[in-house]
Amino acid sequence: MKSETDSHYEVIVVGAGVAGIYQIKRLADLGIHATVLDSGGDLGGTWYWNRYPGARFDSESYTYGYSFSKELLNEWHWKERFSSQPENLRYLNYVADKFDLRKYMQFNCTVQAAYFDEAENLWRLQIDDGRELTCRFVIMTLGLLSAPTLPRYEGMDSFKGRSFHTFYWPHEPVEMTGKRVAVIGTGATAIQVIAEIADKVGDLTVFQRRPNWAAPLNNARISDKEMADIRERYDEIFATCARTPGGFEHEPDRRGFYEVSREERVALWERLYDEPGFGIWLQNFREIFTDEKANAEFSEFIAEKIRSRVKDPVVAEKLIPRDHGFGVQRVPLETYYYEAYNRDNVHLVDISETPIERITETGLQTTERDYDFDIIVYATGFDAITGAFDRIDIRGVGGAKLREDWKDGPSTFLGMFIHGYPNLLMPAGPQSGSASTNYPRGIETGVSWCTDFLEYMWEHGYTRAEATREAEERWTAHVTKMYSTMLMRKAKSWFTGYNSNVEGHEHGKVRYFVYNGGAPKYVTRINEVAERGYEGIALSSDPALSSEPSDLRVGAVSG
Ligand code: NAP
Repeated sequence: MKSETDSHYEVIVVGAGVAGIYQIKRLADLGIHATVLDSGGDLGGTWYWNRYPGARFDSESYTYGYSFSKELLNEWHWKERFSSQPENLRYLNYVADKFDLRKYMQFNCTVQAAYFDEAENLWRLQIDDGRELTCRFVIMTLGLLSAPTLPRYEGMDSFKGRSFHTFYWPHEPVEMTGKRVAVIGTGATAIQVIAEIADKVGDLTVFQRRPNWAAPLNNARISDKEMADIRERYDEIFATCARTPGGFEHEPDRRGFYEVSREERVALWERLYDEPGFGIWLQNFREIFTDEKANAEFSEFIAEKIRSRVKDPVVAEKLIPRDHGFGVQRVPLETYYYEAYNRDNVHLVDISETPIERITETGLQTTERDYDFDIIVYATGFDAITGAFDRIDIRGVGGAKLREDWKDGPSTFLGMFIHGYPNLLMPAGPQSGSASTNYPRGIETGVSWCTDFLEYMWEHGYTRAEATREAEERWTAHVTKMYSTMLMRKAKSWFTGYNSNVEGHEHGKVRYFVYNGGAPKYVTRINEVAERGYEGIALSSDPALSSEPSDLRVGAVSG
């Protein structure tokens, strides 16, 4: 729904995903004149786009839903412990409809540029439909993994079959029965796709450059009785999420790795391997993340699990990562992924040995041979965290280009502000708590904080907010320092900005994307800033520009 009538808003939110939906809810509650723009055809962000088979939460569904409305919590019934994409998208639509948020949303609008107009103290947004929209504050809720990246193989356009990046999986069903399918990539996405389609396609060939460490999701249905119990316990569940580093129910094992016997360690791992969700990663000993030896012992435990599940020992060894230990990259969770390789119609090609040379009209060619396919699936990941920002021409004070400023990695204050880019807020930006937590838990924190901040500005008649250079440098140094003890700093993973398909994102050039201090510490830090009158953010008001409350509190967008 587009509004052709309004061209100026107090706030424009860019992105109608999980964060954007909650952000507009909060602004609507305040009666602020605001709109949300999204390039998609409808709301939902990640859950609107990623329609590939097998797409589902890795978070327990009942920890992923919004916590802000008791009524909503009481109404919604999660059907599975780890809910699938169609249901997740239905949920987000239900939320938007329940709170009547659609009227604030405009779809099929890609923000191509956002320029800060210093003279007018406002943002000018260029939309791909030719409009220019202005706003006092722009809130970027662009998503962490919303800029998909394709490989750069020769001949990709020449393929006569169907091919797509998993992010752009077609909306209509893709007929796969009897088809010869290639999947390129073995990240969290590919691992879901491969397991889901292995028994539905004619023949499946997986092209793996590097294996990932994956562990069982252990999904299950949620009965009415269980859901009733979850509803009773919601306060307790969210309280647990709030005190754990990852915003999940999984709390790290506080015992020292070396304080307990090997038998006790293995007993814990055996239990966690059979339990649902990220427990195997996040309920583990903390040394897994920082100590090479501890990590190696645990990784070997998982390697044995892979060997026990994959019948062909040669294939099993190929599926065991050698270049990194378990959990230093984002752990994919799987459902019969390893068992897929026991099927006669599933083949694993190690493209670190025989690289793909080109895509052909009929399939692809490696250094070893030609393959024919009907469908090629690119599960090749994202230009993470900053990619979505880079795709908008964002210019701040003095025409500075954010793309240039962040060339070697982002620099922010609290992951929410950028020096030189006044009145631009990021509830879930690079270096914020959201990037490393159960996303909805993180964004509820970020959105609430940003909304409180805006209320403070409006109440005090401030019209301009800009993080100071010093505050930003301190925060970025703090975020950077936290990487120094983590094994993940070496990983070829989006956590460190690695993406072989994006220039400048080669391995070894670490980008400090993620706040690694855990959610409770992050919340403490941002609350301290607020309590000190938003220390580190220069606030000012120009009497000529100051908005009267009546200017900003206008009804919804019409149209
Ligand atoms: P990813 O983890 O970055 O994996 C991309 C895969 O494609 C890797 O195996 C990579 O190999 C391979 N690849 C990339 N470019 C290639 C090329 N030119 N040639 C051959 N192989 C290539 O991306 P993803 O699987 O989409 O996952 C990204 C993130 O999305 C996850 O870490 C997770 O945070 C999120 N996600 C979440 C869920 C969920 O919550 N349930 C599900 C899916 C994804 P290399 O490793 O060698 O580069």
